[in-house]
Amino acid sequence: MKCQIANAAGVKFGRYGGLFVPETLVQPLLELAEAYEQMKNSDEFHRELKNLLKNFAGRPTPLYYARNLSRVLGRKIYLKREDLVHGGAHKLNNTLGQGLVAKRMGKTRLIAETGAGQHGVATAIVGANLGFETQIYMGEVDIERQKMNVYRMQLMGAEVIPVRSGSRTLKDAINEAMRDWASSFEHTHYLLGTAAGAHPFPSMVRDFQSVIGDEARRQILEAEGRLPESIVACVGGGSNAMGIFAPFLKDRVRLLAVEAGGRGPGKTDKIADNGASLGYGTDGVLHGALTKILQDPYGQILESYSVAAGLDYPGVGPELAYLAETGRVHPMMADDKTAIRGFRALSRLEGIIPALESAHAVGYAMSEPDALGELTIVNVSGRGDKDLATVMEYENS
Ligand SMILES: *Cc1c(COP(=O)(O)O)cnc(C)c1O
Repeated sequence: MKCQIANAAGVKFGRYGGLFVPETLVQPLLELAEAYEQMKNSDEFHRELKNLLKNFAGRPTPLYYARNLSRVLGRKIYLKREDLVHGGAHKLNNTLGQGLVAKRMGKTRLIAETGAGQHGVATAIVGANLGFETQIYMGEVDIERQKMNVYRMQLMGAEVIPVRSGSRTLKDAINEAMRDWASSFEHTHYLLGTAAGAHPFPSMVRDFQSVIGDEARRQILEAEGRLPESIVACVGGGSNAMGIFAPFLKDRVRLLAVEAGGRGPGKTDKIADNGASLGYGTDGVLHGALTKILQDPYGQILESYSVAAGLDYPGVGPELAYLAETGRVHPMMADDKTAIRGFRALSRLEGIIPALESAHAVGYAMSEPDALGELTIVNVSGRGDKDLATVMEYENS
């Protein structure tokens, strides 16, 4: 079975991707892949999802011409406003899609991993709305750091399960969720939060997030009568970036993927004080896929770092690793300082406080305007209300 599908489209992206998982997880992954393949072609599924995206999530989100930022940078900058999606980020596009898949597969329980708590919250929203029992794996360290999101999840009826293994953060939470799924998949769906992990997650999550790029394409053609010269998006695991990039892959549009440069070069002696798996990573297996990861010479996963919790992941989705290697996507970096500058600039110039993750894309655009061309779209993946304490602390340190 494993060999038969190894070359099927969407399983591998060049040499990246695949299903590098223990035997116990092969069956649930293949069941999910098959079910999703069927739903992809179901009009009824798409009607139901479209209805929820419109009336519950608040889509389509605007493509906003940022006239003040444009004036400062001397080119036209449009912002794709995923910060206006219910829950405050693009994450709900994916959790709604997978929630509906799970419902149609007859599952009654959702499990998910979360680092900063944003994906846990987006899963709890869907669990409450679609009527699942919901359990969220979260590292003990993260639970302590993100009390507000833990409380949000609990308010919406989700149970937060503390993870005490390893570094007690995101990657350990993913390991625990996978362990749970191996013995619970008959009634449980594992709702992965980004375009990473084993097949079919990278393709499925990319498809659900592609609504961002589909809308943006229509909107920019309507506003400008042409496609942009570039699109800028931040990269954690790669779901908002793949979502806005995917509908433009065949066009002459520069796709700029901005990773977390973290503390920046020379600021530390740790090997990985960043989240730049495309920039600094090497080939390895993480969470079921061959991709670019931050690892030591013995293949041990390094702890990543970014001021933006959502970019703090030592791997990246396999499709982005492939697109970067083939030169279709250009990996860039913005360090903490550049992101904070973007955060303040967008707040001050446009009255939009972006998520610190999104601020990496904004900060990069501001520091490299020549890379953008005359017309660009910056994906504002989320809003910054969750980050105010972090920014205040950063400014005072
Ligand atoms: C989680 C998150 C990200 C990073 O995840 P991707 O899968 O890379 O998109 C980026 N921005 C916001 C606002 C997030 O919440």
